[in-house]
Amino acid sequence: MFAFFFFNDTATSEICTRSLVGSVRCVLETAPGVGKGTQAELLASKLNLPHVSTGAIFRSAISEGTDLGLKAKAFSDSGTLVPDELTTSLAIEAISTDKCPNGFILDGFPRNINQAQALQESLNIQNRNIDFVVCLTVPENELVSRMLNRGRVDDTEEVIRTRFKVYEELTSPVLDFYKNIMEIIQINGVGELNEISERIVNSLVK
Ligand code: AMP
Repeated sequence: MFAFFFFNDTATSEICTRSLVGSVRCVLETAPGVGKGTQAELLASKLNLPHVSTGAIFRSAISEGTDLGLKAKAFSDSGTLVPDELTTSLAIEAISTDKCPNGFILDGFPRNINQAQALQESLNIQNRNIDFVVCLTVPENELVSRMLNRGRVDDTEEVIRTRFKVYEELTSPVLDFYKNIMEIIQINGVGELNEISERIVNSLVK
């Protein structure tokens, strides 16, 4: 099993039980620039689970020049969503029981309601669930400067503006989708990386 052994007091019994009986499946949903990629990576490493990032899958396909990369590039470059036909089955395959028998930290998926529904249907069929949805929050004025500072090729001001618009129109309804079926864990995303990471881990053991 994975690294929940370091939580061994009674306050954490619920998550210990869950981890022992199966898996932890966690989705990180946030506005662009909040640092979900970094936090997802840290969380995945602390819990010894695979970090599944659709953005990272697309970036590596683009840099390798694969067929998927060629198709995804224009969308990624402009900050719009890669079409669901290219994204949904890829993400669902990446978190399959074969690849993620003990769970996963899912980062950047689902990004719209169609994807959320497709994910839910696929998990239902397999008798699996999302255990946690974590939403990191950072005041808007801090976000743009964070994104401009991280130096990614798709981080120009215009692309950043597009990503915010896409987030507001298409991705933020995903939070409402989950709010209807489970509690969303809201985490303050301002502070040092490790401090934020601890907040996330602590919130999972409540
Ligand atoms: P990210 O690293 O999560 O910011 O993703 C980088 C880019 O990859 C996004 O701007 C989209 O073009 C694309 N992308 C990542 N995840 C998805 C998704 N779930 N649906 C559609 N496009 C995505």
